[in-house]
Amino acid sequence: MSLGPVRTCAGCGRRAPKPDLQRFTASGGELSPSASGPGRGVYTCRRLACFERALARRAFNRTLRQTVRVDPALSRLYTEGYG
Ligand SMILES: [Zn+2]
Repeated sequence: MSLGPVRTCAGCGRRAPKPDLQRFTASGGELSPSASGPGRGVYTCRRLACFERALARRAFNRTLRQTVRVDPALSRLYTEGYG
């Protein structure tokens, strides 16, 4: 029995199956939602609190190994569209 790939939330540190998490990559120096794009990814739970916490902890920068700009509109990913 396999649960598939597991990733760690950059906000709260929870480990969860990859499809349960929101993935981002750095695209042109900007944090970009990307479920399957190339490059190093960083993950959060699908909770705004985890996104904000990851931001406050600079976990996106640390995990992506670069300084990324974060568009505040990305918070909409967590408040809309996931039903
Ligand atoms: Zn989390």
